[in-house]
Amino acid sequence: MQQGRLFVLSGPSGAGKGTICDRVIKEGSAELSISMTTRALRGKEIDGVSYYFVSDEKFDKTIEEGGFLEYAGIYGHRYGTPKAPVLKAMSEGKDVILEIEMQGAAQVKENYPDAVLVFVLPPSLAELRERLIKRNTDSPEQIIKRTESTLNEIHRIGEYDYYVINGDLDDAVETVKNVIKAVHGDEEAKKAVRKNKVGKRALKMIKKYDEEALQ
Ligand code: 5GP
Repeated sequence: MQQGRLFVLSGPSGAGKGTICDRVIKEGSAELSISMTTRALRGKEIDGVSYYFVSDEKFDKTIEEGGFLEYAGIYGHRYGTPKAPVLKAMSEGKDVILEIEMQGAAQVKENYPDAVLVFVLPPSLAELRERLIKRNTDSPEQIIKRTESTLNEIHRIGEYDYYVINGDLDDAVETVKNVIKAVHGDEEAKKAVRKNKVGKRALKMIKKYDEEALQ
């Protein structure tokens, strides 16, 4: 049986990678990996569905046991991808998608060079700020922190294989689904995502975020 592939959806927070990921999973294009986190459960989240909500001790123990595919600390909490379920699904020929922040994405690429990294960008910095405010999960100070780090993060687009601008959600979902198909050799999909490959065009495109920040 052909081994499944590992896809990583990453990028600045608030760019909507979670929403895209949910749709891609729902539409059956890949399996979702459920992360472990030391942060508290919020709102309608369910333990074992949204995340495995664990103590610091349990997180440390999993690190010691080599149980993470990658892990990172962000905004005072830790997040990690349990290794075993991902490797199992891939060995069963299933594609797996990780929705993780950028330190983790870099670790995945280093340890699994075959992984396909997709960078999700907000349409603009102003739109990103709006979305974070609407999401209502961060304090105003956290929103300032998050938007400040966004520009730096955008400049790391070169570490990625593909990029998608999350302006229209349907388009973004379609692009990610096409990336998955393209990696499996689908010619139509390859054509469709040619423009989403990270290259000179992407490096030029990110200049507009710099210009917006200067305004
Ligand atoms: P939140 O607390 O808002 O659910 O997630 C905060 C950030 O952690 C998001 O950018 C999310 O993508 C990232 N994240 C979630 N799970 C993991 C994981 O397993 N590993 C890493 N590195 N980041 C994660």
